[in-house]
Amino acid sequence: MKKKINLRMICISVFSIFSAILLMYVIFSAKLKTEVFEELKFAAELIDNADLSEDVLDAVPTDIRVTIINADGSVKYDSYADPSTLQNHLNRPEVSGALLEGEHEDIRNSTTMSESIFYYAKKLDSGTVLRVGKEYESVVHIVWSVIPAVLAVVLILVVICLIVSFFLTKSIVDPIDDIVDNLERKYIDEDKIYPELIPFTHKIRQQHVDILESANIRQEFTANVSHELKTPLTAISGYAELIENGVVKKDEDVIHFANEIHKSAKRLLNLINDIIKLSKLDAKAYDSTFEVVNFAEIVKDTVEMLSVNADKRRVQLRYQGCDNARIRIGKEFAEEITYNLIENAIKYNNDGGYVLITLNNNGSNTEFQVSDNGIGIPKEHQNRIFERFYRVDKSRSRERQGTGLGLAIVKHICELTGGVINLKSYKDEGTTISITWANENSKIDK
Ligand code: ATP
Ligand code: MG
Repeated sequence: MKKKINLRMICISVFSIFSAILLMYVIFSAKLKTEVFEELKFAAELIDNADLSEDVLDAVPTDIRVTIINADGSVKYDSYADPSTLQNHLNRPEVSGALLEGEHEDIRNSTTMSESIFYYAKKLDSGTVLRVGKEYESVVHIVWSVIPAVLAVVLILVVICLIVSFFLTKSIVDPIDDIVDNLERKYIDEDKIYPELIPFTHKIRQQHVDILESANIRQEFTANVSHELKTPLTAISGYAELIENGVVKKDEDVIHFANEIHKSAKRLLNLINDIIKLSKLDAKAYDSTFEVVNFAEIVKDTVEMLSVNADKRRVQLRYQGCDNARIRIGKEFAEEITYNLIENAIKYNNDGGYVLITLNNNGSNTEFQVSDNGIGIPKEHQNRIFERFYRVDKSRSRERQGTGLGLAIVKHICELTGGVINLKSYKDEGTTISITWANENSKIDK
């Protein structure tokens, strides 16, 4: 960038210098021409007014040549030479021009091009032509003679331009370099950067932070996935090896090991299914025009499905709520939310506990709520349980077949469908998780 700016600045400077010289040449030659012809016209006028009197002809400055030419082109008088030695002048442009138009101007260069002769000719009343001429050093010659001096000046100017452009480029680029160098610093000294670049800087820094954050999340996620996959796979492989080596002899032991293998395989399958769901949610691979479902029906179906789990744990499941709550959420997402919340409430409950599920539509909001009087979530864990793989008590959760992805999926679905999650929990007292969808916010059909 610096190189480019420098190069462009130098090009502009050199172009400006040469343009200025060219312009000076054009103006100078035009001015010279006008002044010389004015002087010649004035002399011709003077001679004509004095009726070509000899006194006036003698008084004309010696650098002005006066010639009087007859209408047939023969020279009648010449202040520099004997007229009889001079050729017919009819073919001279200023003479023929004056005979035709009354007056005419011409410039002729000497053979060496070092001098120019300016001619002004005027047709007099008598029919003769009065011509005055003056020799001048030619403009080209003048310019050539000053070329060494001009080149020296140009060289000095180019060097000055180089120095100026170097410092100017530095002053332009330095604030940008500063942004790049300090991208990772928390605060940017806004006085040091261009005001126009402040929004851009904020955006770039935010993107930088986001990239680092998502790289961290991805790394953590991969480590978690690998770990979670390894545990059931090690168990499956271990139990299968024992059976293969004939270590397990008794039938009931084989059944026990097969059962363990089945449990681990189921755990693996659940984990992989959850990861697929999350990656689909991350990639926003779902059609965002979700179908409208009767949420009440889905809740009731889930309650029925999970009642077996609840019975096993002697947990009382109760549904209380409306029969019709139409939400634009899609069947798959509705089942995912209800299953995860109710399953958690059963899983993290105590023997003989209860789970109360409510669903209310008050016209402006639809609220789905799952309450339990289970183990509860300690305060310090509450804002982390929606993170992927986060479990309050890892060993207890694993023992209950938990992978720590359920609530992360619920949170993602809520973000997509406009649901707001609220959590209230007290250790050893119980947990209440509610999700509210605002009817107006498009996702819900009244
Ligand atoms: P998964 O749902 O993926 O099978 P999981 O139940 O362990 O596994 P989440 O549903 O995401 O994972 O829950 C995260 C953690 O939050 C759980 O491990 C548990 O510690 C805590 N938790 C969730 N719901 C409750 C609840 N109702 N009572 C107490 N703790 C809960
Ligand atoms: Mg769960």
